[in-house]
Amino acid sequence: MALGPVTVLGRGSNALIHDDGIPGVCLVLKGELAGARIDGTRVQAGGGLYLNVLLRRLDEAGLAGAEAFAGVPGTVGGAVVMNAGTSLGEAKDLIEAITVVLPGGEVAEIAGEDCGFAYRHSGLPPGVVVAFAGLALSDDDGSRAAIRRAFLERRKLSQPLSQPSCGSTFTNPPGDFAARLIQEAGLKGFTIGGAQISDKHANFFVNLGDASAEDIRRLIVHARRTVLERFGVRLTPEVKLLGPWPEDALEP
Ligand SMILES: Cc1cc2nc3c(=O)[nH]c(=O)nc-3n(C[C@H](O)[C@H](O)[C@H](O)COP(=O)(O)OP(=O)(O)OC[C@H]3O[C@@H](n4cnc5c(N)ncnc54)[C@H](O)[C@@H]3O)c2cc1C
Repeated sequence: MALGPVTVLGRGSNALIHDDGIPGVCLVLKGELAGARIDGTRVQAGGGLYLNVLLRRLDEAGLAGAEAFAGVPGTVGGAVVMNAGTSLGEAKDLIEAITVVLPGGEVAEIAGEDCGFAYRHSGLPPGVVVAFAGLALSDDDGSRAAIRRAFLERRKLSQPLSQPSCGSTFTNPPGDFAARLIQEAGLKGFTIGGAQISDKHANFFVNLGDASAEDIRRLIVHARRTVLERFGVRLTPEVKLLGPWPEDALEP
């Protein structure tokens, strides 16, 4: 029996899932693939492990080095694929190697420097499943918790964390901020259906309660088109479309 296309879903925190769902098979990694093995300052983390659980395990083990994931929802696999991070650093800073399952079913190891990491991007071939990530950490000198606490407090003030969103909708263009451009275009609070450009942070597009994925898509296209017309800047979506979306779904 053909299973159809295979899609890996982490925590869905950077994904816009089509209103008709995702065709084929959706993989969610559990069990050993969502666990962590700690050996000194090295950690083998399952692709399905939630980042907040990883941070808790590292705290218990007195390990520092993953502060960049503070307040980033998602899984280790999603963080690898997206090279997730914050102003405190990004996934590529701590990944030594990853273990992947290739589309044909073979298991392979890829060194961190060969993952093609760039700003909120990895160059992993389509269809690979990130099963494990080997992380290099360091012994905590006692400053880790305070750094994270201060960072999270700043976040709470500047981001609409109590409303559902896909996180940052666009990556920041070189030398600028997507939120600044969207705000300068007068789009803060702009609403389509149940989807709104947050009036707290203009790069967060929030679900007011009954937004469809199509509402969010139309809002993204509207923001891209408006910013392109006003400032000549073509914003690059950070959000990943999952499901039967056409190739040009987010074209302005
Ligand atoms: C409130 C909020 C704040 C956020 N803040 C930040 C931030 O500060 N910095 C930041 O970088 N991001 C941020 N994000 C975005 C998001 O948290 C990250 O991109 C995160 O790494 C996504 O992980 P995930 O497990 O949810 O991935 P998903 O959204 O489930 O998937 C993202 C992509 O990765 C693929 N994928 C997931 N797991 C695997 C796997 N094991 N193997 C292969 N492919 C996989 C999916 O198919 C999809 O293409 C934020 C999101 C929200 C909602």
